Amino acid sequence: MTDKNVYEGGCSCRKVRYRLNTDPLIVHACHCRQCQRVTGSAFVMNALIEKTEVELVSGEVANYHFADTIHTAFFCPECATYVWSEYKSGRFDDCWFIRVGTLDEPDRVPPGVHIFMESKQPWVIIPEGVPKFERFYRISDVWKQPSIDRMGPNWSPPIRT
Ligand SMILES: [Zn+2]
Ligand SMILES: [Zn+2]
Repeated sequence: MTDKNVYEGGCSCRKVRYRLNTDPLIVHACHCRQCQRVTGSAFVMNALIEKTEVELVSGEVANYHFADTIHTAFFCPECATYVWSEYKSGRFDDCWFIRVGTLDEPDRVPPGVHIFMESKQPWVIIPEGVPKFERFYRISDVWKQPSIDRMGPNWSPPIRT
């Protein structure tokens, strides 16, 4: 039984194990074409969290940078399960994007926002009350204040309008 604000996860072969030491900042369900292709699925679920809050408990991760993108994916070299990503946009360089499906209890972190609805597969129905955007969104429109505060006073994106 894990603590309330601790989340454990890992790859399919269990060589890579990791721990999140606090709640995610936000959980994205991304319906963009790249995420669909990389996951082979309808959308990816990424839990954004500060890199300092993620511990690699065992194993090691290899990485792959997708050419002409800001996306680098990190994966288990044994079983090739993607466990997290980095998006070097200047906004989220200090965060890992944790693949929610690799958590031991993925049900604990449902999507907080759906993005890139413009390429959402038509059979995917988004529940009422969950914010959704054609592409991306303004942080201050979606994130709860404690998450914004966690990014620190010098965070570069326009966090307030
Ligand atoms: Zn593995
Ligand atoms: Zn995407």
